[in-house]
Amino acid sequence: MSAELYKNPALKTAQPALIPLAGLGRVELAQALEDFGIAPKQIRMRSKQIFHWIYNYGVTDWDAMTNITKDLRVKLAETFSLKRPEILDKQVSVDGTRKYLIRMAPGIEVESVFIPAVSKTGALCVSSQVGCTLTCKFCHTGTQRLVRNLTAAEIALQVMVARDDLDEWPSSSGERKMTNIVFMGMGEPLYNMNEVAKAIDIICDCEGLSFGRRRITLSTSGVVPEIVNAGEKTSAMLAISLHAANDELRSEIMPINKKYPLKALMEACRAYPGLSNSRRITFEYVMLKDINDSPRHAKELINLLRGIPAKVNLIPFNPWPGSPYECSDWETIESFADQVNAAGYASPIRTPRGRDILAACGQLRSESEKLRASERRKLEKQHLENVETT
Ligand code: SF4
Repeated sequence: MSAELYKNPALKTAQPALIPLAGLGRVELAQALEDFGIAPKQIRMRSKQIFHWIYNYGVTDWDAMTNITKDLRVKLAETFSLKRPEILDKQVSVDGTRKYLIRMAPGIEVESVFIPAVSKTGALCVSSQVGCTLTCKFCHTGTQRLVRNLTAAEIALQVMVARDDLDEWPSSSGERKMTNIVFMGMGEPLYNMNEVAKAIDIICDCEGLSFGRRRITLSTSGVVPEIVNAGEKTSAMLAISLHAANDELRSEIMPINKKYPLKALMEACRAYPGLSNSRRITFEYVMLKDINDSPRHAKELINLLRGIPAKVNLIPFNPWPGSPYECSDWETIESFADQVNAAGYASPIRTPRGRDILAACGQLRSESEKLRASERRKLEKQHLENVETT
């Protein structure tokens, strides 16, 4: 949103609203400073300083930037904003899971979920799209039509909002609650690869938010042509939303399988850059009662994974209003796990987190709907007028 707003001359001249900087990458930040009039010789130094203040210290006030002269800070504050997007709603589960509903722009609302530590890793589940074009039957987001892709800034801002809420600035300080980022929120990240890759660059910049690339996981429903490219661009860990190990059943649960069947998917997995026993692919498998949970299904799964450095995450199905499935019985899940484990694949059963606030896997959804361009322009105009008067 920020970059678009900045580049749109009509909006820029018509509206005096401040230009948001938080969420921009190094290149866009430098460009914004150049357009603002910082001398070419100083661009590199200034953008480095400001980047560090925004992403390492998390500052939202220009006055905190003590290595920038007061005069310049005043001028920058007249043009640029360091504010975060608005949190419309925050819910905390009995198990400590936190779900945020964030308004990125008028009519553009996304959910992200912080799942607190289990064995020292706390993960933030971020969204890459508002809604989704795919219609995986077990997934609540799949019932929300795609509104639009999120920008890299909007993805990075989800991390910043969570870091604010967890009070974890500066990024360079010792132990953190939020150690991992998983792209398992709303949307298919591989359908928004350019912005997702840019966001990962921002999130992993060691002078900023400073996450290691092996602490980032891209989860895909199986967009085969983008899988290797995603690994090359991001060096992130890969997760495949699998859920069935034969084409007939998988196509029923996940229609994308008709386009990219299992053979092609497994070939792409084998070609994923950097794959090794210490860098395995995670296969997500949601346990659906009497659908995909029998010993025969476990055997098919084992055969499918043969030769791939893999682990399997078994996910007890998390129901949502109107969902067509039920969760498998606990004993069934355990015996499925035992069978897969015995074949040499680690297959932990994921403890459901945040079910009481609909924050568990596959339960996210916002009320954003696709608007006509004229309706969106009207909303944007109203929003800018409100910003101006507050
Ligand atoms: S599981 Fe992922 S790809 Fe499938 S509908 Fe849900 S958000 Fe979209």
